[in-house]
Amino acid sequence: MSDETGATDAHAAIRNAHVWFESHSGWAPPEPETVEEWAADGVCRCPDECLVPPDGWCEHGLASWALVLAALADEDARRAFRPRDPG
Ligand SMILES: [Zn+2]
Repeated sequence: MSDETGATDAHAAIRNAHVWFESHSGWAPPEPETVEEWAADGVCRCPDECLVPPDGWCEHGLASWALVLAALADEDARRAFRPRDPG
């Protein structure tokens, strides 16, 4: 794999995807079934429709939808979790 991807790791690729979201309108996350179909084929799409491995990112540095959606779910879970007040 070339290092000239514009992203050095998944976190950077996810961040790039969010930057991309801000400068592009009209995008929509894929249906969960669609992501599953891609995964069954061992691939995934990026927000800019590049075809990549499910846990990868495209040459433009954008994370796959699988990575983006997993990160969002993770964030939601973290936000939903609040340390309980003792007493
Ligand atoms: Zn791309």
